[in-house]
Amino acid sequence: MRLLIAMMKHETNTFSPVPTPLQRFGHGPGPLYGEDAVAAYRGTGSGLGAFLDLAERAGAEINLPVAASAPPSRPVEDAAYEHIAGIICDAVRKGGWDGIMLDLHGAMVTESLEDGEGELLRRIRAIDPRTPIAVAYDMHANLHDAMVANATVVAGYRTYPHVDTYDTAKRAGEILLAAMRGAVRPVMAWGNVAMLPHVMRQGSDDHPNKALQARVAAMQGEGALAASLFTGFPHADIKNAGLSAVVVTDGDRALAERLRDELLNEAWSDREAFVYRLEPLDQSLARAKAIEPGGGPIVLLDHYDNCASGGTMDTTAVLAAILREGLDNVAAFAIYDPAAVQQAIAAGIGAELSLAIGGKIAMPQIPGDSRPLAVTGTVKTISNGRFRNRGPMGRGVLTDMGPSVVLDTGKVEIALISRHVEPSDLNCLLALGIDPMQKRFVMLKSRIHWRAGLGALAKAVVECAGMGVCTSDYGQLTFKNVRRPIYPLDLPNR
Ligand SMILES: [Zn+2]
Repeated sequence: MRLLIAMMKHETNTFSPVPTPLQRFGHGPGPLYGEDAVAAYRGTGSGLGAFLDLAERAGAEINLPVAASAPPSRPVEDAAYEHIAGIICDAVRKGGWDGIMLDLHGAMVTESLEDGEGELLRRIRAIDPRTPIAVAYDMHANLHDAMVANATVVAGYRTYPHVDTYDTAKRAGEILLAAMRGAVRPVMAWGNVAMLPHVMRQGSDDHPNKALQARVAAMQGEGALAASLFTGFPHADIKNAGLSAVVVTDGDRALAERLRDELLNEAWSDREAFVYRLEPLDQSLARAKAIEPGGGPIVLLDHYDNCASGGTMDTTAVLAAILREGLDNVAAFAIYDPAAVQQAIAAGIGAELSLAIGGKIAMPQIPGDSRPLAVTGTVKTISNGRFRNRGPMGRGVLTDMGPSVVLDTGKVEIALISRHVEPSDLNCLLALGIDPMQKRFVMLKSRIHWRAGLGALAKAVVECAGMGVCTSDYGQLTFKNVRRPIYPLDLPNR
C-alpha cells in the first residue's frame, strides 16, 4: 500500500497586515520536506502524527513531500501557495497511490483565491480522479463546496481549544482505509448558514458549542461515519465565511442530509449565544483588581490581539493600562517585537534599559493607531525561544518563538518574542523562566486556546478589550465580500 500524506495549513485573517510569505510556513525558513517532515511530526499529537501512525500500522509505504503550517496572518502570497500546492500536485502526478491523507486548515485565503484548500483538492482531482482522499480540517474552516466535493471523507475538530487534532485526523484516516478496503462507501452532505459566530463565544466548553459538539459526537452512534460542525473564522471577508457542517455516512445520502440539517438548524436557533458582549477596558481592570489574590493567577485576556487569529501581537493598549493602573506581580505574554528583543540581547542579562516596545506594525483595516509603549526594566531572561509543547494541544510539536527575552519592570515581567506564538501551552511561559502559578496576574494575548495550557490553573479570567485586527468589535471591520445578509452583522434575520 502506498500513501501520500501532506500538510498545508493557514488560517487567513483578511484584515491582518502581517505578511504570509513561504518563510512563515514552518519552524525556521519555510516548510519541512520529505524525511525532515516525517521526523518532525512522527509520534506527536498532531494531525500529521495521526496519519503517520495509521500508515505505519497499515504497513504502508509513506510519502510526505511537504509539511507547511503558518500562524494566521493576511492572505497567503501567491508564490507561497503555488510552491506548496505544486509540491503536493507533483507528488500526486507521480501516480501509483492507494490513498491520500491531507492535514489542511480550511480557512486559507490567498492573494488570488478565497478557497485555497478547495483549489488544491480540485487540482489533485484533475490529475488523479480516482484515488481516495481524506482531509482533516480545523473547526475554524470556512467550508466551500470544492473542499468537500473533491474529497472522499472529511472530518473537523470537535474541540476549541483544539486538543483533538490527532483524533480528528485519525477519524478521517480510518474511514479512508476502510473505504480503500471496500468496507464502507462514504457519501457526504455539507451546508452552511449565514452566521458569523464570534470567536470568543466558540469555546467547546461553553454554550452553545459544547452542546453542538456533543450532538456531533453522538451522531456516530446513529449511522454517521463522521460528523463535523465548523464554527468558522469570521475575520475573513470572503463569501463563505461562517458556520457550516458536513456529515459522512456509509452510502446513505438522505441520512447525511438529515443530520447535516439538524446541526445547522440547532446552531441557527442558538445564534444569539454566539454573540459576544464587550466590556470597557477600565471596567475590566477594576474588576480584576477587586479579585482576592491567591489560588492561582488571574488571567487578563488581551483578546483583540490574538496572533492565532491574525493579530500583530504588538498592540500595547492592555499592557499600557496594566502599567498605568499599577498592577503588581504580573507576567505579560507577549509583545512581538524582534528589534526590541535584539536591543535587550545586546544589553545582556541583568542590564537595565529603556525600550519602546510594540506598536510598530500599522493596521490600516481597523480604526486608531497602536503606539509603541515606553518601558524601563531589567533583562531577566534571554532565550532561543524554542520548546516542545507539553500538550494537550499539539503535544511534542516543536514551537519556535524566535529569539526571546523577558524584561522585568519590577511589577510586570514582559515577554518579548520574535515569532508569532499564541500562549496555548504552559511551556511558552516556563521556557522563559516565568512560573505563572507565582503570579497574581497573567496577561495573555489569546482568545480561547490559552485554556488548553492555563485554563485549569487560573483562578479567574477577565476579558480585556484592547486593540488589534482580531478585534472583538465587529463594528470596527468593513466587510465587503461576505454574503449578506448575515447574522449578526445584519440583525435579526438571515
Ligand atoms: Zn482553529
